[in-house]
Amino acid sequence: MTRLLLFDVDNTLLWSGGAGGKAMGLAFRDLFGIDDGFKRVEFSGRTDRYILATALRQHGIDGDFDEHQVRFLERYYTHLPQTLREREGKLMPGFPALLDDLSGRPDIRLGLATGNFSRAAQLKLAHYGIDGYFSGGGFGEESEDRALIVRRAVERLGEGLPSAEAVVIGDTPHDISSAKANGAVAVGVATGGHSVEQLKESGADFVFQDFSDWRSAVATLTGEA
Ligand SMILES: [Mg+2]
Repeated sequence: MTRLLLFDVDNTLLWSGGAGGKAMGLAFRDLFGIDDGFKRVEFSGRTDRYILATALRQHGIDGDFDEHQVRFLERYYTHLPQTLREREGKLMPGFPALLDDLSGRPDIRLGLATGNFSRAAQLKLAHYGIDGYFSGGGFGEESEDRALIVRRAVERLGEGLPSAEAVVIGDTPHDISSAKANGAVAVGVATGGHSVEQLKESGADFVFQDFSDWRSAVATLTGEA
């Protein structure tokens, strides 16, 4: 059986040093003339579509959401490469060694299940040199609901496989619940704002403090452990 390993991006693979939030704020200011437009929006584990929709609602901005999103993305993608260069972020412990090992295994497919807008995910991964490991996935413009993003990732990456098992890896209870909603194995990693205990309580099948011991993480993710 093939395993699809679907990774969250922020605080799971990497920490962008706040570059994403900074670029989103600049884009929002460009379009609506409002500073700190996302100040009252909780980002953690949320999809970018949800984050944008919430900010628009909070500021009483109506009109066609998809039109707003298209214009927003154009500005966001203009700012993000610059903020990535300005902010000093990092890959999380165990990366890229974990990805190196997994990508050499014929029965493993690596993908993304991220709340990031697709091109933002691409820019962040490329900035930290790990974009080549992933062959697609589900992304933040597709839904405000993370479970749907996981479903899209499974459909795309599982296509053509007689049977596949999906594993979702992320740092928040939203990652865990989106895995469970799709019958996937949920692996939590406490490199974001949530503790090992919180991730266990949210229903994770396995939880790691981080992936610095990447060999044992490989064993769990591939189902060998
Ligand atoms: Mg995350």
